[in-house]
Amino acid sequence: MSENNEIKESKKFKNYEDAVFEGGGWFILGHSAGQNKIMAKELRAENSRKKVLLLGGVHGNETEGVQFMVDFCREFAKDEEKSPFGFDLFLVPVLNPDGFFAHERKNASGVDLNRNMPTKDWSPEFQEDKYNPGSHAGSEPESKILVDLLNKHYFDFIISFHSWKPMININGPAEIFGEKMKEKLKMKVVKDIGYPTPGSLGTYAGWERGIPTITLEFERGVELEGIYAYARDAILDSFKALQSE
Ligand SMILES: [Zn+2]
Repeated sequence: MSENNEIKESKKFKNYEDAVFEGGGWFILGHSAGQNKIMAKELRAENSRKKVLLLGGVHGNETEGVQFMVDFCREFAKDEEKSPFGFDLFLVPVLNPDGFFAHERKNASGVDLNRNMPTKDWSPEFQEDKYNPGSHAGSEPESKILVDLLNKHYFDFIISFHSWKPMININGPAEIFGEKMKEKLKMKVVKDIGYPTPGSLGTYAGWERGIPTITLEFERGVELEGIYAYARDAILDSFKALQSE
């Protein structure tokens, strides 16, 4: 067994690409710093004027969020080319495949992708190595891919799935979405996670571009098998905020 396969097996996704990307319609959105493929799929709804981005695996060791994305894609995107929700849906289960394969927070260049976005508050300073923001704002290929994506599509709502202490972190005008999902998640809705996160997607998309953005923090270390059943209906509830507009 190659070293690479051993790493993949240790992550509970025995065959990452088959598991995540079963069914048609997946395409390569771009390549990571470590030259891994970043896969995406877009589901269109008829006569839709709204578009949602679901993003997982920004931090490669936060497998809980990837698990949610995998199971969501299995239910709603396996064979579908059309969105069942009445709005367009853009899916990126693993933005940071380098980190995901290595079970590391950062990408292959050792950069924290959620500190590397080209926000106004981006800073080269960092206290702990795990928060390394990169050589300059937006330096990493994964960040460029995300910026391009946000320039190309006008998303009406973004959820980025992470894991840490459980919370619904709203960025930008996302209160209504947070309120819709909090009941079933039994999590608090917070605007501020308690410490600064310069260069984060939430700051870039939510506060600077005015796109309702939620950084959803699952509890780190919970059983992966239960994540989807726990969060599915709450996420669908948050979609209702968009559908009722
Ligand atoms: Zn994270």
